[in-house]
Amino acid sequence: MTKAEPTADAVNDGATSGANRPIRFDILTLFPAIFEPALGVGVCGKARDAGLVEWQAHDIRNHAGNKHSKVDDRPFGGGPGMVMMCQPLFDAVRSAEAMDDRPVTRIFLTPQGEPLTQAMVEELATKPRLLLIAGRYEGIDERVIEKLAPREISVGDFVLSGGELPAMCLIDAVVRLIPGALGHEDSASEDSFSQAGPDRSRLLDCPHYTRPRVWEGLEAPEVLLGGDHEAVDRWRNEQRLQRTRRRRPDLLEDSPE
Ligand code: SAM
Repeated sequence: MTKAEPTADAVNDGATSGANRPIRFDILTLFPAIFEPALGVGVCGKARDAGLVEWQAHDIRNHAGNKHSKVDDRPFGGGPGMVMMCQPLFDAVRSAEAMDDRPVTRIFLTPQGEPLTQAMVEELATKPRLLLIAGRYEGIDERVIEKLAPREISVGDFVLSGGELPAMCLIDAVVRLIPGALGHEDSASEDSFSQAGPDRSRLLDCPHYTRPRVWEGLEAPEVLLGGDHEAVDRWRNEQRLQRTRRRRPDLLEDSPE
């Protein structure tokens, strides 16, 4: 099959713009109802209430264009399962994109995409608008993916039943990085995979403790209780390094020069 050229409107480099407007997520899905219960609470819910982010889940089925709202069909060549058809998704994307004038970054959540990393999340958090396509069944007809030319992103080397959970992972991870979304200014920069280590390496976070001081015979580390902030910082940095060496030495190998 000839690879379709992306149409002019598929140019989706998502240049940074729209400062002071909430970052917008449009999600294309067959199950729009599952987003609000998961994203409407906690950090994402508060960020939305504070006007830092907005999202809208669009039902691809509304663009089925047939009386049975059919959006899938049997795969050419036979085999199990169903495949999502081109036209309903294409029309749903065009309709969602028309709702806002900012440049959009199209993303298709797929196990075959580039693995989602914190570095990628940091980059996506600079975009004004992200459009996320969640597949179902055996997947989506390849031709509409070629036409829309989205960035393809995976949340891991395993297969889920749909792209909705991956889309929510991505949204949650991005929202945490929007200035003001977390209570404490530094909390995201101290998390695992942030550039908190020596030479901006991406270390794992240190262990955390809270009251009571002794629980089930286990004591919280003495250094955290003494009020010496420099000693606490030193201890935490050592813990980050030790943990990373032990659990994820690959992060240290990958660290920039
Ligand atoms: N047949 C496809 C394959 O093997 O690559 C898997 C289809 S999966 C059952 C249905 C949908 O779930 C996919 O189209 C994708 O949107 C989503 N999905 C499943 N696993 C995913 C992952 N690890 N990362 C991102 N999306 C995933």
